[in-house]
Amino acid sequence: MECEITYKEMMVQSALTELKRKIPYGWDLNIYRGCQHGCQYCYAMYSHNYLGSEEFFKDIYIKTNIVDELEKQLKTDGWKREVVNIGGVTDSYQPAEENYKIMPEVLKLLIKYKTPAIISTKSTLVLRDFELIDELSHITYINIAETITTIDENIREKIEPGSAPTEERFKVLKEFRKTNASIGFHLMPIIPLLTDNESNFDGLFSRAKDCGVDYVLPGTLYLRGKTRSHFLEFFKRDFPDRYNEFISLYKTGGADKEYKNKLYEMVNRLRDKYELPKSYMKPMRERLK
Ligand code: SF4
Repeated sequence: MECEITYKEMMVQSALTELKRKIPYGWDLNIYRGCQHGCQYCYAMYSHNYLGSEEFFKDIYIKTNIVDELEKQLKTDGWKREVVNIGGVTDSYQPAEENYKIMPEVLKLLIKYKTPAIISTKSTLVLRDFELIDELSHITYINIAETITTIDENIREKIEPGSAPTEERFKVLKEFRKTNASIGFHLMPIIPLLTDNESNFDGLFSRAKDCGVDYVLPGTLYLRGKTRSHFLEFFKRDFPDRYNEFISLYKTGGADKEYKNKLYEMVNRLRDKYELPKSYMKPMRERLK
């Protein structure tokens, strides 16, 4: 993504955020605020409001003391080794991580305190930490998921300009298949009129099959608040001929119900064609036994 990035360091008072709904994971860990991947549909844009910045993709905040704070939390007697979701709001392997190298320190703590985790990313940088993830995978549950939306690189470059190319992301999954980690393919968001066609799903599922993923998790685009206005502006500018049809599907935050029913019929049929598992929870339960 060609734009000027400002890195801003910040201190936090705690690393982990406890979630009210404990399933499928109890805690969130986000190292960065803002994200350079620049996805047009990013639902986390709202989170910059609290920082007083309008530039979610350009003002990147780094929580420089997060490793110390994480250890304080993990070493308490009360820590029950619940699953930590890493990067649920912003991508932990975005470009800033190349220099800050915070994830290896986080992984070392997860190993030390035998703490299970989920990492989802759109980057290949996670491969840098292959050995640490491999080690963790032999101690407890670790899930590596790539979020992938399309096999069409032209579309990918428009909707996720800072992310890794699709084929590269599948290569990441294939590499992690060599570890004991669970590997997941997050097919999200499915974007009506851009990525919701049979040939796209067929291409993605055949690659996922080749990687031996443990599950496929699909999800449809959801638009509200800042994300809605940003995405609609992008869609109108880049796909003006499809805009009216698109907007008719998004009268509310979620896509039209009838549209979604038909979409999931197709997704399920193609997922079954490749015999891809659909349970996100099964590999977690099996490895946490
Ligand atoms: S990778 Fe995730 S956090 Fe980063 S811009 Fe894309 S959707 Fe937002």
